[in-house]
This record gives sequence, C-alpha cells and structure tokens, in this order.
Amino acid sequence: MSVGMFCYQCEQTAKGTGCVVQGVCGKDPESSALQDLLVLAVKGIGWYARLAAEKGARDRSIGVFTARALFSTITNVNFDPARLEGLIREAGRVKGAARELAAGAGAVFPSSIPASAAWEPAGTRADLLSRAPGADLRADRPGADDLRSLEHLLLFGLKGVAAYADHAHILGSDSDAVFDYLHRALAVLAEGRSGAGELTTLVLECGKVNIDAMELLSQAHRARFGVPVPTPVSLGTREGPAIIVSGHDLLDLEELLEQTEGTGVNVYTHGEMLPAHGYPRLKGHPHLAGHYGTAWQNQQREFAAAPAAVLMTTNCIQRPAAAYADRIFTTGLVAWPGVAHVPDRAGGRQKDFSAVIAKAKSLPGFHDAPGKTITAGFGHEAVLGVAEKVIAAVKSGAIRRFFLIGGCDGAKPGRNYYTRFAELVPKDCVILTLACGKFRFHTLDAGDIGGIPRLLDMGQCNDAYSAVRVAQALAGAFGCLPAREGVLSGDRDVDRHRQLSGLLVRERGGGGKLCREVLGGCGDHQGDGVAVVSSRLVFVASSDLVQCIVSDALG
Ligand code: SF4
Ligand code: SF4
Repeated sequence: MSVGMFCYQCEQTAKGTGCVVQGVCGKDPESSALQDLLVLAVKGIGWYARLAAEKGARDRSIGVFTARALFSTITNVNFDPARLEGLIREAGRVKGAARELAAGAGAVFPSSIPASAAWEPAGTRADLLSRAPGADLRADRPGADDLRSLEHLLLFGLKGVAAYADHAHILGSDSDAVFDYLHRALAVLAEGRSGAGELTTLVLECGKVNIDAMELLSQAHRARFGVPVPTPVSLGTREGPAIIVSGHDLLDLEELLEQTEGTGVNVYTHGEMLPAHGYPRLKGHPHLAGHYGTAWQNQQREFAAAPAAVLMTTNCIQRPAAAYADRIFTTGLVAWPGVAHVPDRAGGRQKDFSAVIAKAKSLPGFHDAPGKTITAGFGHEAVLGVAEKVIAAVKSGAIRRFFLIGGCDGAKPGRNYYTRFAELVPKDCVILTLACGKFRFHTLDAGDIGGIPRLLDMGQCNDAYSAVRVAQALAGAFGCLPAREGVLSGDRDVDRHRQLSGLLVRERGGGGKLCREVLGGCGDHQGDGVAVVSSRLVFVASSDLVQCIVSDALG
C-alpha cells in the first residue's frame, strides 16, 4: 500500500526540511513508515517499563530490545521492510512483557493510557501501515512547534544513546541506569504532554546519560580487545583474496579474523573500522592487512572498485550498486532488501561468516600495491600517557591550542569543511579527531610538536568518550572547564544520533570561555554542530562555522 513519508532526523534531509517522497539516504516511504511505527511501539514499551522500574522491577531483556529497536531506526542502518516488520511484531511481545512486569510489581495503570501503549501490532503488514499516519512525526504535539521540536530533539538523542548501549550490550556490558533513562524519556514522549521545562531537562540529561553509555562502551572495548596503542596502518593492498569490513562492530571483526586465519584471505578495514588496528587483540592477526578506502559516503565507488567481498557490520550502508550487490553482506542491525545477511550469534557460538569467506575466495582479490602509512590508535590512554609532556608543551607555548574535529560526515559533493578546518589549524596547534570526518584529512602530513604528533586519531564515533576524557584532563590541568558535564552534552549523533545527538554547548565559567552556543540536532551523520570550547579546547564542525570558530578560538 502507498504510505506518506516524513523524516528529518539527519543533516542530509531533503531541502533541509524533511524527506517526504524518498529519503536522500535511500530510505523508501514504506521503510520510513515502519520505522515510525517501531518508534511508536518502543514508546509504549517505555511507558510500561518506566512504571515497572518505579516499583523496582526490571528485566534487562526489555532494555536490550529498546536499544536495538531505536538503533535500527538511525540513519543508514535498516532499509529492509521485512526486518522492520519483524522488529515491530517483537516490540508488541516485549511491550506485553513490560506490562506484565509492571502489573506484577504492583503498578496501577491509569484509566487512560497513551495510544502507543495501547497499540497492538497485529494483522498483516498492510494493517500495520494503516496505523502509520498516527506515527508520523508531524502528528506529534499538534499546534505546538517548539514542544514538537524538543520532543524530536530528545528522540534523536535517545537513538544515539541506544546505539552506544547496543554496542556495549554486544560485548556483555549493560547498564540499568541507561535503560531506565531510555524508558523514562520514551514514556514522556508516549504521553506527549510535557512542557518545555521538563523536555529541556530530559534533553540535557540525555547528554549526561550518553556520556555514561559511551564510558560503558569504552570500558567494554578495552576489556575485550585491550587498550588501543598508536599503530601504523597501511593504506595499500596485498596480493590475494580479501574481505573489506565496514561499520563499527569490533566483535564481528574479531570473529571474522579468527575464521579467516590460515585461509589465505586478507581482511581490510573500511570507514569506521580503521581504529580496530590499534587494539592489541585485533592487530595481532597478521592477515589484518590494512585499511581500504575512506568514509561511508564513498562506499559505492570504493566497493565497486574492490575485487573483494564486503561486510557491513553496522551503519552506514548505502544502496548497494549493481557492481557489488552480489558480494556485499550485512550483519547485526544493518539491513538492505535482497542483500545476504549473516545471522546473529546463537547458543554461545560465533557468527558464521563462511558465506563471506567463500565469496572472497571466489573473487580475484587485490594485487600487491603499497600505499601510504597512517597511524591509528590514539585513545585517551595514549594521549594521557604523555600528559606531562603535553602540559609542559602548553605551558612553554609550544602548543597553543587543541582542536577536536569529530563527527560523521555528509555525502554532498564538494563538501570540504573538515578539510578546510584541518588546513586552517595553525602549526602550533594539535588536532584530535574521531569518526568519519577524519577521512577528509587523514592523510595530511601534519608533523609533530616536540615529538607530539599534531594529528591524533582517537577512533570511531563510538570512541567519543576518549575525547571527553582528554577534554576533562586538559580542563583539570588548566582549570578551564568544569570537570565532567561541561565538556560535551549530548552527542552522537553526531551520529547522527550517536555522535552528537543533542549537542549542547553552553557557556561555562571558571576560566572557560565560550566561543559559541550550538544546539545540534542529530549528529548522526553529519555531525555538524559539534562544538565546544574553552580557552584551550575547541570541539568543532559545521561548514558555516568553521572559519568563525577557528578565528574565535584563536582569539
Ligand atoms: S535518515 Fe536523513 S536522509 Fe534518510 S530519510 Fe531521514 S532525513 Fe532523509
Ligand atoms: S562516523 Fe557516522 S557517518 Fe561514519 S560510519 Fe559512523 S555513524 Fe556513519
């Protein structure tokens, strides 16, 4: 059946106002409507789960599902109507479990419950879609544009938190506090009657909870893969069959590396997988041969040119071009109709990547082609490990300032603000970077300042916590920002959701100096609107702001 569409959750959105016919990302109206319905269903889960938590009753599997479902609706993750329909039906079952949990704990339900809590996703897909108009974001808070905007800012922020929480869960780390917050905020959205004050408080709290979720993931990464260390990474290729792994899921990469051991198949990272080279447990595999290509927005050209199999572990997938449609695989939450999908782990076993490996062996593979070498793996431990040297360099004036250029990146041709920014940073300043934006300048020969590299790659958007830790340390050393919450609120999204989803930059006292106040939307892609600031540390990104922020920061 034909359905309407409205999505404005990322910076790519059509005309800057909303995708209403077809998503610029490739999302079609049916997938968009199903994602809206999934969000509606999750609001209902949150409404019951909050009541249960208020009575002290929790079931982690409910929080795990909430995170998975929200993550599935982030930009460039799930384009497959069949899988989205499956998630909606599962949401109906999870909501029933949340309702029973709350009732069993003694919660008293009001006589009037929100529509999202009352909705039972039954019937055919057409039956589900007939409910879609009520789930359209434009239907929220009729006649109250500001409140609708606040609700959606909160929703997009929750999606970012959910992405971090899901990644942490995959590595065995969950947080009841994070799940409780997700459910509490979703319950408020389900009721749709909060004022600006309560919504603003929840948006700001989203930033704090997001840092907690990032910390959880950072610790989970280190517990599983070791502490990242600066590591040279080849951008060239080796003779032989190959698999290119993109996305963010390091556990998928580890299992693939183990399953390709001794097979003659080389494994290359792509996009946000680049930081994997810094982790001791991953870099120890000799057939982790290097990094291929650049960022997500170049995948159609880069995958088409690679005589190799491709594995997308999470976002950001684009419509597979015909040239590689039969050799690209998805796994985890990422999905595209017609693309072979590697199922989830079951029964304590690894995922089975044999089909990907077989495909790689059937292809010509790469030839020996040496390439430039770059360095990855500057997590907060590596940077803070030379803190005394850094502080001395700042005090002597050798280092004037630090810039963090972090975030996703857009696909619009000619986009070059990250490149411009990196080029504009003076030679006595250091650039910290993370996420896809770095591919605009990752091969820049930035040199060093007294042995301290001027370009420090801190990792994925999933590693934004490292930047927070460094910001905290610098703030502490120079007394320029309050310790924790003053540095970054919100995020990711930049991630588009994940990165800087709800990026709030606010003026801070105590010696901190604010250049600019920015309230960013979903960072999910395109993390424009990063930004913060003290006299020594500037978080940036946004095409129009680049020049002025640099000048403001340099004063
Ligand atoms: S995710 Fe972004 S590009 Fe895709 S439909 Fe939504 S606003 Fe448009
Ligand atoms: S950094 Fe952002 S744009 Fe890049 S792959 Fe991750 S989510 Fe996508």
